[in-house]
Amino acid sequence: MNYAVISDVHGNLEALDAVLADISARAGQSGGRRAKILFLGDAVGYGPDPNACVAAIRKHAFQGVAGNHDWAVLGLTDVTFFNPNARAAIRWTDETLTPESRAALEALPLVKRLEKDSLFLVHGSPYEPEEWHYLLYFSEAQVNFEHFKEWICLIGHSHLPFVMERMPTGEITASKGQKAAALDRSCRYIINAGSVGQPRDGDPRACYLLLSDEEARFVRVPYDIRKTQEKMGAAGLPLPLIERLSRGL
Ligand code: ZN
Repeated sequence: MNYAVISDVHGNLEALDAVLADISARAGQSGGRRAKILFLGDAVGYGPDPNACVAAIRKHAFQGVAGNHDWAVLGLTDVTFFNPNARAAIRWTDETLTPESRAALEALPLVKRLEKDSLFLVHGSPYEPEEWHYLLYFSEAQVNFEHFKEWICLIGHSHLPFVMERMPTGEITASKGQKAAALDRSCRYIINAGSVGQPRDGDPRACYLLLSDEEARFVRVPYDIRKTQEKMGAAGLPLPLIERLSRGL
């Protein structure tokens, strides 16, 4: 298999375009076909270009699932759990979204299974996906490994890239902050693809994941952060959301 996994785009078109260009450039370099794109949710929320991002994801993604911000703007999830800045961005996105974009978001399922490659796609967690739990710790991973049967579960939501490996003995190990992890057929995995449009691991560059049968590799792509920030300012989006893009936090 040859996949490029993107998540948490959050209406950041400059970041998404940079990532799509990087994916295409890799195909050109290797003389091969472009990796198929999987999308793990949150096309909108926070950023200034929700419609363009939804259109690009719809055009390029082979398969995808919905995120909590997508559901929030569709009125399918309770936004009282969102912080005030996120809620303000959802309100702005709701006013900005076209009927076409809305229909495209509505078409995204909550979970997706790709049987041939034994992949399970979900935004938050395989356990109660509609509750948008965060999956960050071993204790949470332990529970979640029981809630999918595939080789690899791909998630987003926390915007923190990592690879968790469950060995045949049941022991779980994690690699965070590493560029790549080798994949073993006798183990199972939960992999967070990081965030294209609002990274939170201290690296402001857009993040995505390349996935083959042998390895999971994180790719960081610089983009024109200032341009996105200027658009956010012009749209009147909350200042803390604008500032955090420079810090990647
Ligand atoms: Zn998100």
